[in-house]
Amino acid sequence: MLIRNAEIDFGRRGDVRVADGVIAGIGRLAPAAGEAVLDARGDALLPGLHDHHIHLLAFAAARDSVRCGPPWVKDEKALAQALQAAALTSSGGWLRGIGYHESVAGEIDRDWLDRVLPLCPARIQHRSGRLWILNSRALDIVVQDETPLETVDGRFTGRLYDADAWLRGRIGATEPPIRTASYYLLSRGVTGITDTTPGNDATAFALMAAARRKGDLVQSVLMMGGDGLDGLPERDGVRVGARKFHLHETDLPAPATLVAEIRHSHEAGRAAAFHCVTLAELVFALSALEEAGSVCGDRIEHASVAPPDILPWIARLGLAVLSQPNFIAERGDAYLRDVDPQDRPWLYRQRAFLAAAIPLGAGTDAPFGDADPWKAMQAAVTRLTPSGEILDPAERLTPEEAVALFLGAPGNPGGPSRTIAVGAPADLCLLDRPWEEARRDLGQVGITTTIKGGRIVWPR
Ligand SMILES: [Zn+2]
Repeated sequence: MLIRNAEIDFGRRGDVRVADGVIAGIGRLAPAAGEAVLDARGDALLPGLHDHHIHLLAFAAARDSVRCGPPWVKDEKALAQALQAAALTSSGGWLRGIGYHESVAGEIDRDWLDRVLPLCPARIQHRSGRLWILNSRALDIVVQDETPLETVDGRFTGRLYDADAWLRGRIGATEPPIRTASYYLLSRGVTGITDTTPGNDATAFALMAAARRKGDLVQSVLMMGGDGLDGLPERDGVRVGARKFHLHETDLPAPATLVAEIRHSHEAGRAAAFHCVTLAELVFALSALEEAGSVCGDRIEHASVAPPDILPWIARLGLAVLSQPNFIAERGDAYLRDVDPQDRPWLYRQRAFLAAAIPLGAGTDAPFGDADPWKAMQAAVTRLTPSGEILDPAERLTPEEAVALFLGAPGNPGGPSRTIAVGAPADLCLLDRPWEEARRDLGQVGITTTIKGGRIVWPR
């Protein structure tokens, strides 16, 4: 295939030949006999984007769910309406809500849900991912002799903490619609993902490899997860990545245990990744890495709060930081309201990491954030909160720096951007406009064609 008249490297015009899944030529090229030609009309051609932090199966499931929290739903009445509207159009099976936050209607329970949804079994997930709230119809289905459900005075409240696997066992594992999730990402130019779900195991690995084989999942996958992934060889474009440590400030592991587990991962040839949304979690992770020793590929997810004195430490350990600029656009006002004033200047920093020579990559954290990487890039450029405040203007990036957050190699986020070069894999996305126009508002960018392994995969 010959892509003619494309804008490459943010300004240079040229033709790009794709053959056998790789880029075979760049320059002024004439079509060979019978070669397919795609006229780019001067629009920008970029390497396919890589979302460095996403939860694919949860994202796929969330596309079938009711959004129960801000910014979509902000109060009790709106939540009740959203749930009842979904119940009216559902086929009578389970109703699933996601993203609940107590700012909407407080600590809701079974009785609250029964008033709104008396007829269909329903479960609502808290935004943290750790809590499910079930109504009575749902309890009728899942309750058996042994249950981890919370009770008050011997009666179930409907609230269920940290029991995803248990719940899945009761409801039955319905396969999430991976195909529509994968094609949504293709429509935004994403050709690769790093799945950062801590609970990923050999079953999740097999599920994604099977989806790749069937063509339901088009993106190549770097899969983080637990030690159940140790030693698994690459299969159908799914590769094992770092061991993910999900640290919670209120429930931290014993330091010696964490150090031993980091060493074990390194010995198994895997880097370590740490979920750190508070300063305490970050300091805990850095201390453990200091003791265990860090290796290339170790990384900090979120690094939501990073004061200046921490930055040299991150840099010295050679860690990459994986940020979610979209959170600023989605939750920025809540941060300004709820976060400790002394932490506020150090929220979701960008420029400061670059200035400290810390590799900075990005992922959307979908379904906990919006999966559109272009909205995330625009948020990195503007740092605008939903109400229009700017979260520390000094941290803003240029549009070129913002797009680079998604152009690092899967195993080296924040490292050198992948480029359109002869011999590179033909994973590409063609924008609907030239770069000069795109950079004015990255959130408005459309993708006209996405190419994976030399094949046009979007539009279908
Ligand atoms: Zn995440």
